Amino acid sequence: MPTKIDLSKCSKCGTCIEVCPEEVYDEADDGAPINARNDNCTDCGICVEECPEECIELV
Ligand code: SF4
Ligand code: SF4
Repeated sequence: MPTKIDLSKCSKCGTCIEVCPEEVYDEADDGAPINARNDNCTDCGICVEECPEECIELV
């Protein structure tokens, strides 16, 4: 199951990139997360819980 990020609320803190055990996210040049490997997502929910802006959801 992939994740969806509301980049309008993202503070580009990098937390989701760091905590994802499946390395789903890459980091864009401006620091924003990119769903580069959504097929690897195991629906663990860690990034959803750890995002300080609450802008990631499982879809
Ligand atoms: S739900 Fe888990 S596996 Fe999926 S992107 Fe978030 S941290 Fe990674
Ligand atoms: S954890 Fe949330 S606020 Fe931080 S970079 Fe990821 S999506 Fe943006």
